[in-house]
Formats: sequence, C-alpha cells, structure tokens
Amino acid sequence: MRYAFISDIHANLEALEAVLEDIETQNIDDIICLGDIVGYGANPNECVDLVRKECSVVLLGNHDAAAVELLSTQHFNIHAKIAIEWTTQTLRRDTKDYLTELPMKAAVDPITLVHATPYEPNMWYYITSLEEAAFNFQFFETQICMVGHTHIPIIIVLDSQKELYVHQDMGIGLSDIDGARLLINVGSVGQPRDRNPKSCYGIFDSDNGDFSYRRVAYNIDKTQQKMKKIKMPEFLISRLEDGR
Ligand code: ZN
Repeated sequence: MRYAFISDIHANLEALEAVLEDIETQNIDDIICLGDIVGYGANPNECVDLVRKECSVVLLGNHDAAAVELLSTQHFNIHAKIAIEWTTQTLRRDTKDYLTELPMKAAVDPITLVHATPYEPNMWYYITSLEEAAFNFQFFETQICMVGHTHIPIIIVLDSQKELYVHQDMGIGLSDIDGARLLINVGSVGQPRDRNPKSCYGIFDSDNGDFSYRRVAYNIDKTQQKMKKIKMPEFLISRLEDGR
C-alpha cells in the first residue's frame, strides 16, 4: 500500500487542490489526513468537503475542535482566535457535524496517527525538542507514529541502541534503519513554517518501508487575496509567502 499523509490544511483550498493533484501522480492507494482542516484560511467548507471525499482516515485537529466549540480558544494567540471566530460563523451545519465526530487517534499498520502527540492527544501538546520526542516514544506501540501540529516536517529516530536523533535527509527507508522506531511530522499543506512556502506532505510505502516528503507549489497570491477579502490578520496573510 502507498499512503499519502496530509495535515494542517487550515482552509487553504489552493494548497489542498495542488497537493491532491500531486498525489494523483504518485500512485497512492489511500490518503490520510492528520487534522486541522480549518482555521486561518478562507475556504473551510470547501476544504472539509474535499478531505471528506478524498481521505480514508481523518483526525480531529485543535483548530477543528475550536471551530466547532469542542475546545476553548483561551490558549490560542489573538490571530488564531480571530480566524476561529470567522470560521465558526462560516462553517455549514453539516461540515460542523462532520468535524465534531472526528477521532483524535487512529492506526494503519505499522503506524499510529495523531494530530499533536501520542501522549494524551486531546491536550494538544507540541513536540519541539528531542526530550519531548523521547517522552512521546513511550506512548505508542507501533514502529512509526505520524503527527502534524507544529507545521514543521521532521523525522526523529529512536534506534535499536536507544539512541535518539533527528534524521537529516527528507526521506528514510525502514530497510536501512534495522528495527529503529520513527516519530515523523508530515509537515503542513496550508501553512508551512519551515521557511519553505511550498505545501508539504508525506508518502509511505508499506511494501518497501520507504517514507519521503513532497513539496508542492501553489498559487499563494490567490490564497492571500481571499484572506484579505475576509479581513484575516495581516500576519496570517504574509506568513504564507515566507513559510514561517
Ligand atoms: Zn495546525
């Protein structure tokens, strides 16, 4: 099976469409979405409709939860709060119902799937250090765990000698790492923050054990024009072209 993993779309329809088009060229059997379909961008309903149609597994993200009032925005920054308020008012009843029912955790052999962290995924913690990664390796049993949430693609390896490190290439093969376990952040489709403005997603081939990232250009200008029209904060608009 060849899986595509998408995450953190954040209502950016141009980015999602570009990524889905790229996925069509990659011989993919199943598309899996790790959450945050909405929040920040101008097309929450359209993005939910597309994800619902195209993905076999879809997880709840913290912005999705906040948009349907399953989560308070008290810990969100002011820009995110403004975006969530607009999103809550804009989502249709049926898209809200769909988001409300999404799970926080799933698995496809040999991968555990969560939006934020395998440790208490409902708390929306971030993995931003090797210490936090080391802690989280204790909370999944599979060889691999895929996450989103930070919008920064990264592959963290726990090798058979229990050594923990960041893998430096943008791809990895299970056949080369001899029983090591992996914590992989698949990056963000709609708001990349690794100084590369292109959309990011991951592909895993369960037959040969290879994982790799794809970067896809999309019409950032069009997305930004739409965000201006609905008066999203300038910071959220300009960060897209910088990938930060
Ligand atoms: Zn996000």
